[in-house]
Amino acid sequence: DFATLPDLIAAHARERGDKLALVDGEQSLSYASLDAEMTRAAAALQQAGVRPHQPVAILAANSVASAAAFLAILRAGAVPTPLAASATPDQLAAMIADCGAPIAFADEAGSAALTGAAARIVRLGDPAWMGHGGTALTPIPIGPADPFNIIYSSGTTGTPKGIVQPHAMRWAHIARNAAAGFGDAVTMIATPLYSNTTLVSFLPTIAWGGTAVLMPRFDARAFCTLAERYRATHAMLVPVQYQRIMALPDFNAFDLTSFRLKTCTSAPFAASLKADIVARCPGLLVEYYGMTEGGGTTMLVANAHPDKLHSVGQPIEGHDIRLIDDDGREVAQGDTGEVVGRSPAMMTGYHGRSDATAQAEWFDADGRRYIRHGDIGRFDEDGFLTLLDRKKDLIISGGFNLYPSDLEAILAGHPQVADCTVIGVPSPLWGETPVGFYVARGQSDPAEILAWFNARVGKTQRLSALEPIDELPRSAIGKVLKRELRDRWPERPA
Ligand code: ATP
Ligand code: MG
Repeated sequence: DFATLPDLIAAHARERGDKLALVDGEQSLSYASLDAEMTRAAAALQQAGVRPHQPVAILAANSVASAAAFLAILRAGAVPTPLAASATPDQLAAMIADCGAPIAFADEAGSAALTGAAARIVRLGDPAWMGHGGTALTPIPIGPADPFNIIYSSGTTGTPKGIVQPHAMRWAHIARNAAAGFGDAVTMIATPLYSNTTLVSFLPTIAWGGTAVLMPRFDARAFCTLAERYRATHAMLVPVQYQRIMALPDFNAFDLTSFRLKTCTSAPFAASLKADIVARCPGLLVEYYGMTEGGGTTMLVANAHPDKLHSVGQPIEGHDIRLIDDDGREVAQGDTGEVVGRSPAMMTGYHGRSDATAQAEWFDADGRRYIRHGDIGRFDEDGFLTLLDRKKDLIISGGFNLYPSDLEAILAGHPQVADCTVIGVPSPLWGETPVGFYVARGQSDPAEILAWFNARVGKTQRLSALEPIDELPRSAIGKVLKRELRDRWPERPA
C-alpha cells in the first residue's frame, strides 16, 4: 500500500487538527495550521513555475518554518532537497547546479550562503511570497518510483553525491515504523534535517501524527531540558551527542522517564557508552546501521543483548546483508568482507552520476541488486554484524591490512586519552603507516602514550607518530572526518 505524506498530514488535520505537529524554541504549528501552511506554500511554488518532480532546495537550521517548507515542497509535487549548512560556498553552488533547483528556501544565514549560487532564494516565513499563489493546487500524480527527496551524502569520504530516495523507499521505512508508537510520540529532533539520520525519525513522527520538537543546534543541557519539558518519548541521536549528554554532571537530575525509544545511527558507537545509556537513561536503546543510499539496515536492541554491544545487531526484517571480498565473491561465514545490502528501501541512484551508481551496485548470482556500503564487517555465529572500518580507511602497511578501529580501541584505553582516531598516511618504506591523534584528558605526554601504545601491539601495528589535538574534526552529524586529517598530514618521511 502506498500513501503520500501530505495526504497523511491532511488526514491528521481533519481528525485531530489541534494536535501539535511541530515545535521549536519559539514557534509551533498544529496539524491544522501545518496543513494550511503547506497548501499555501505549495500553491506559491506551483505559481512560481516549479514543475512536478523538480528539486527545490532548502538551506536552513532546524525550525518549524524549515520543517514545514520540506513538507510543503512535497505537497507541490516537487522534491525537497535539503542542503548541509556545513557545506562550503563552492559545494553549495555545485549541489544547486547538480540538482537544478529553480528555488531555494533559506533562513537568514542560508540566504547569505546561497547568494550567487541559487537562481532564486525565498526567505522562510516570507508571508507575501507564501501567499501569492492562493490555495488552489494542481494535483500531481505520484508513483512509488518517483523521487521523494534528494539528500547529498555526508561527504565523509569524498565529494557529496545527490542520493535520490524514491517514494517507495520512504514509504517502506515509514510503514515499517507504524508499530513504533509514533502516533503519540514526542520526538526530539536534535540533528539537522538535511541528514537522513534525522529524516528517518522526523518523517515517521509526522506521518503517524506525533509531535516533532526541533532543536536549531544541539546542546546536551538544552536537549535534556526540552525533553523534560515536552515529556519526550522518542529521540534519534548520534554517538557524540549521547556522549555529551551522559557526561553532564547533573544528568541524573533530569526527569527523562517519558522516554520510550532512543535510537542511534551514523557512526561507531562504543559498547561502553551503550551500556551506560542502558543503565542510566530510561526507555529502549536501539542502534541502527545503514546508509543514506539504502542497501540493508541492521538493528541492535541494546537492552536485550548486553553481550552483543560491540556489534550493530542483525539485519532487520526484509533486509538482506552479504559480505564480499575484493573480487566480488561472498566470503565464508565468520570471515570479514565488504558489506553489501538489499532491501525494499533503496536509492534510485546518484543524481546525474550513473558511473558512481554503477560502482555502488553489486549483483548476486540471480541478478538481484545490492548496494555496497563501503564498510568492512564480520558476522558472528548468532548472525550479529560487527563493523571494523570503512574500506577507504583501511591501512595497508608493508602488505598487512591494519584496521584503524582495532588500534583506536587500544589507544582509547590509555587514561590520558579522552578521544582518539588512527589514520593511514603515505610512507616511502611501507606504502602506508598508521598515525594517531588524541584529545587529552588533563595533562598528557604524547611520547609516553606513544611508547605505551607501541609496547602493546605487534611490530606492524606500531604508530609512526601520535599527536595531541584539541578536538577531532567531525561532520555536523558527528562523524570523524579522517579525510581532513589525511589531507592535513604534512608530507614527510615516515
Ligand atoms: P559519504 O558516503 O559521502 O562518504 P557517509 O557514508 O558518512 O558519507 P551516510 O549515508 O550518512 O554517509 O552514512 C553511512 C555510513 O555511516 C555507513 O556506511 C557507516 O560507515 C556509518 N554508520 C552508520 N551507522 C553506523 C553504526 N551504527 N555504527 C558504525 N558506523 C555507522
Ligand atoms: Mg557512504
